Amino acid sequence: MIDAAGLALPLPAAGDQDAGVSAAEPSLPPLPVLWRRVPTGRVLAFAPHPDDEVAGPGGVLALHADQGDAVRVVVATDGTSGDPDGRHAPGALAALRRRESQDGLRHLGVRDVRFWGFPDGHVLSEADLQNAAALAARELAEHRPDVVYLPWELDGHPDHHRLHVVVTRALAATGFRGLALGYEVWNAMVPDVIVETTAVFPRKQAAMLAHASQIAYTQYDHCLGGLSAYRSLVHLRGRGYGEALRRVSGALPAALAEPT
Ligand SMILES: [Zn+2]
Repeated sequence: MIDAAGLALPLPAAGDQDAGVSAAEPSLPPLPVLWRRVPTGRVLAFAPHPDDEVAGPGGVLALHADQGDAVRVVVATDGTSGDPDGRHAPGALAALRRRESQDGLRHLGVRDVRFWGFPDGHVLSEADLQNAAALAARELAEHRPDVVYLPWELDGHPDHHRLHVVVTRALAATGFRGLALGYEVWNAMVPDVIVETTAVFPRKQAAMLAHASQIAYTQYDHCLGGLSAYRSLVHLRGRGYGEALRRVSGALPAALAEPT
């Protein structure tokens, strides 16, 4: 995750703020479908920082692992911005965050994780984006996923946004024909799918707590647990837990949609 406070985020231009109320009626988004199961197949999940793989699609990845899918996680950055008070020795934090990611994923039943090790919070040039997209394309070619998870397009943190751009470029470049789904961490989305994660939610919480270096700063388990509880609102009568997903490419399998 890495708290975005203090980062220079783009603000609307003054002209945008003064534009007044639009006369166009907003269109009503369709209700998300409910999945109590996830699609079967090979899974590749891209995380901007060590912990986003849990915070975003952690319950979904546990469901994939439990049904025997080959799940691989790729963590793009080294997470070294996640220690603003300098509590850990320089150089040790990246290794610590890798271990926390591996420990957290073990709670979810996932052992296949790769770390690209890019510095986080880094302003990527166009050349950097192209190099990262080439890396993502290689991951797609090696793992041959049927389902890809990535940060959704408006997740609101610069690193999350960049990884969305990187992965969607790679999906396009490789002619990916499977299903790509965005997950939420920093900004709640208008979802296409709610996945019920009630049965695996305790494991997601345990996986979040494995990221002790981050929980020491921010109660991510509380916040993201709250988001999972909130996602039970639309289809689950506010009971249990869910995770929201938004389609990036491919067709949602109609057979998974539960009558509600
Ligand atoms: Zn993050």
